[in-house]
Amino acid sequence: MKPKKALITGLTGQDGSYLAEHLLSLGYEVHGLVRRVALEDPGRRFNRIEHLLDQITLHAASLESYPSIFHIFSRHQFDECYHLAAQSFVGESFADGFSTMNTNINGTHYMLAGLRELQPQCKFYFAGSSEMFGKVREVPQKETTPFHPRSPYGISKVAGFDLTRNYREAYGMFCVSGIFFNHESPRRGFEFVTRKITSAVAHIHQGLASELRVGNLEARRDWGHAKDYVRAMHLMVQREEPEDLVVASGESHSVREFCELAFAEVGLDYRDYVIQDEKFYRPAEVEHLIGDSSKAREALGWEPQYTFQELVKEMVSRDLELAGKAAEMASSAGAIA
Ligand code: GDP
Repeated sequence: MKPKKALITGLTGQDGSYLAEHLLSLGYEVHGLVRRVALEDPGRRFNRIEHLLDQITLHAASLESYPSIFHIFSRHQFDECYHLAAQSFVGESFADGFSTMNTNINGTHYMLAGLRELQPQCKFYFAGSSEMFGKVREVPQKETTPFHPRSPYGISKVAGFDLTRNYREAYGMFCVSGIFFNHESPRRGFEFVTRKITSAVAHIHQGLASELRVGNLEARRDWGHAKDYVRAMHLMVQREEPEDLVVASGESHSVREFCELAFAEVGLDYRDYVIQDEKFYRPAEVEHLIGDSSKAREALGWEPQYTFQELVKEMVSRDLELAGKAAEMASSAGAIA
């Protein structure tokens, strides 16, 4: 049988790289849409997919350009399309709301419009987000909970979610959104609080840093492992009928608890190092996210394999390796000088 062909946008990111690995393990032919600047700077931009480069096909295109997306869809047919690319950092979305909205909303619209025009049979997955719930109307949040986004990022995701639903309803396409709660891993960007903490723990442990400045320690999130969550994306696309589903661990922890656990991994007390700094507070905060994913668990037979404790442990352990290398380089540079 011919292998299924999948296109991933955001392939170079945390979720894209895990999803590519997962689809390859299932025998898929995996294609990725990447910016031309990334192709020109592979050393820096492809650090999460370096080990996959000889197994995947990359296409240069920009989500800001409909013609470039149209061009790819006019030359290659796909069975499934996973649209994960976005400006995904909430903090940055406050700093530059216009770019976040332009890229995220238009990018999703261009993808949908291109598919409708050239290959409406291709199944489409949109990466929705728990940030759509924002100022939560009920706890825990599920598929029927109303949205109340609290950031340009959250607003752009609600728009993408509505666009995806509308293409499904208006044109009968298989378009589905995953409403995914925060998911982290050793491949998470350093701007997100989990990675910021685990990286700081490793640097402090190696004597490369002495403190960690964060914002709101009381904010709570439902944190899972990205590796578990990409399995759910794939399962959602395999269903007979498209249905938007909440995917979450069902546990919520505060930033403070994350700090406590991560510092304890190296035998330190977070209270000796962590400083709350107003600079890192958000203009509008999402205080209490916790998801009820019972519908997805039943419909997909999905269960997360990682616990919160295992997630923190894996992230600290990877950052200790990286900081160990950084410390070695610093000391050999010192020896040369
Ligand atoms: P988000 O849920 O997509 O916004 O993921 P983040 O990891 O960026 O933030 C999670 C929560 O941690 C938010 O409520 C932030 O306000 C809170 N937080 C507290 N201190 C920090 C910090 O120093 N950096 C970041 N990124 N978030 C912080």
